[in-house]
Amino acid sequence: MSKINIQGIQWDAKSSFQKGPAKAPALIRKALYDDSMNMYAENGFSIAKDVVSDKGDFEIKDYFDIEKITLDHLEKNGKLLSLGGDHSVTFPIIKAFHTYYPKLDILHIDAHADLYHDYEGDPYSHACPFARIMENGFAVKLVQVGIRTLNPHQTAQAEKYGVGIHEMKDLDLKAIPKFQNPLYISLDMDGFDPAFAPGVSHHEPGGLSSRQVIDLIQSINTPVVGADIVEYNPHRDFQDMTAYLAAKMMKELIGKMLDR
Ligand code: MN
Ligand code: MN
Repeated sequence: MSKINIQGIQWDAKSSFQKGPAKAPALIRKALYDDSMNMYAENGFSIAKDVVSDKGDFEIKDYFDIEKITLDHLEKNGKLLSLGGDHSVTFPIIKAFHTYYPKLDILHIDAHADLYHDYEGDPYSHACPFARIMENGFAVKLVQVGIRTLNPHQTAQAEKYGVGIHEMKDLDLKAIPKFQNPLYISLDMDGFDPAFAPGVSHHEPGGLSSRQVIDLIQSINTPVVGADIVEYNPHRDFQDMTAYLAAKMMKELIGKMLDR
């Protein structure tokens, strides 16, 4: 099996509230490799450097370059983890995945549905990527977990696109449906409760615990071909605890990609 590629996306120009996620990739790697933790995911797979190929960080000037950079790091049957950026990065990343994975399911973990038709006039805002993905037919199935900010517009968008939303207020992790196609996991760090992940731009209390998200990932029984860890904002972090949680999630996501 070929190595799992890693790319860092330095981009936060489409954040509506605060900047910071452009600085995330290097800080997540720093936490992962500072010798405080070993390289084993909980499923027993090591993510040491012989199974990953780190392509480095890319400073983005033009939003649409994210698709080209992602295509450089993906091939037929290839797997890719993307670090950093605000959540707007997920649309061009998934557009690239569509080239090799025309039938893709997506598990999206977030406090927010990110389904706005446009946000403050921008259809590519970090509040919009899943509207763009669904209107382009880039996902067969989109399942969202951790949502706790729905409004009438986003509820209507979810109905229009057939999105399966699992809101925090009635969350039952066992009720989350199984996937049939190769799976992409998009992890917005604000899906966690801010008590676990204070380093995000939008604090929305009442969120997921670290344990719940790890259990959810471990419960997946279809191949995971890609993932992103987005919206980590180091300016708001406390004792680097969000960087270490992102590093832990990097291990769990790569460990899951290694487990076929
Ligand atoms: Mn998001
Ligand atoms: Mn969010």
